[in-house]
Amino acid sequence: MKYSPPKDIPLSEILPNPPILLMGAGPVPTPPEVKLASSIVFSHLGPTMREIIKRLQLMGQYVFQTSSTRILGIAGPASGAMEMAMASLVWPGRKVLVLNLGTFSARFGDMARGLGADVTELFPEPLSCFKATDVKAALEKDKFDVITLTHGETSCGIKNIELEEIARIAKAMGVKVVVDAVVTLSCMPVPMDEWGIDIMFTGGQKGVSAIPGIALVAFSESCFAEIQARTEKMPHWCLDVRRAWKFWGLGEYHYTAPVPGILALHEGLRLICLETLEKRFERHTQSSLALQRGLQELGLEMYAPEYCRLHSVVAVKNKPGVVAKDLIQFMIQQHHVEISGAFGLDIVRIGQMGEQCRPENVARTLAALKSGYAHFA
Ligand SMILES: *Cc1c(COP(=O)(O)O)cnc(C)c1O
Repeated sequence: MKYSPPKDIPLSEILPNPPILLMGAGPVPTPPEVKLASSIVFSHLGPTMREIIKRLQLMGQYVFQTSSTRILGIAGPASGAMEMAMASLVWPGRKVLVLNLGTFSARFGDMARGLGADVTELFPEPLSCFKATDVKAALEKDKFDVITLTHGETSCGIKNIELEEIARIAKAMGVKVVVDAVVTLSCMPVPMDEWGIDIMFTGGQKGVSAIPGIALVAFSESCFAEIQARTEKMPHWCLDVRRAWKFWGLGEYHYTAPVPGILALHEGLRLICLETLEKRFERHTQSSLALQRGLQELGLEMYAPEYCRLHSVVAVKNKPGVVAKDLIQFMIQQHHVEISGAFGLDIVRIGQMGEQCRPENVARTLAALKSGYAHFA
């Protein structure tokens, strides 16, 4: 043998012990049901999987609040679902209006440009979300095929509170509405049918509180029918929704499905159904407000103004003179609690999705943050 095996190091020596409480912008802590489900592997084809997929779609209809049966999983990140959505509706020459509120909203634009679209980006006023009147004006200036927006922009903790109105305006003009609901689905209302959304998606590791590496996307029936009928070539193979429907609709082989991820998602959705959306929204609201009160008591200021503040990822202004990266490392090492930094802005971000919204987790996070700021004061 030319190469010998490296020295054996078991995972137990690498993984942090005690484990880190994940209080950042995702992934989020996994409930026991999800942990168990994601350790199981069995055949991805056959009657057992078929039943699981049907249940998953049924529960998905409740969580997305849609009558559409066109719900698919993707072996990949939430960005994979975003890419499937964009590749379904966008090809060279198509006009896309991207509402750019930050990192994740901007990703739609990157993808659309990669697909050869003619992209127009709209930006909101600083520290605010998009106004339906501004979006309407932009849509009237040109003939767009697709509009994209992120319901909750994780990078800055701002929520597009006028999403419903924006979607209604776009729909009335025949523009397809694609919504990133990664950090809002199951944390706050985003009823797909009622708001007239054509494609909406989430990732396993955020709002729905399953695991990373699996994503979920829903297409409205009418949008799905249009995609079935399109004559332009599909640019992807794995992310081709028509090929993917072979598995998700018919139980046939497309690619080997991510069995543990599907099971994890099944459990994530099942826990949401058991809790009910009403109770879950209320738990998320109360927990996030308690966190925000606690942060204010520590003398910290929220980044986003109250009216458009995202509750599921709370962005907090860092204290002057403290390096956010050092603060986060200190919290991990001393308190085994991890929160997120930011892309460029001097803020830290605390997640309020799923298991993150438990009083003991909020209390531990506030205590760790207090200790961190005291250490660097
Ligand atoms: C995390 C996140 C994504 C991307 O998720 P990945 O799984 O990393 O691709 C997209 N949109 C929003 C709003 C997010 O918070």
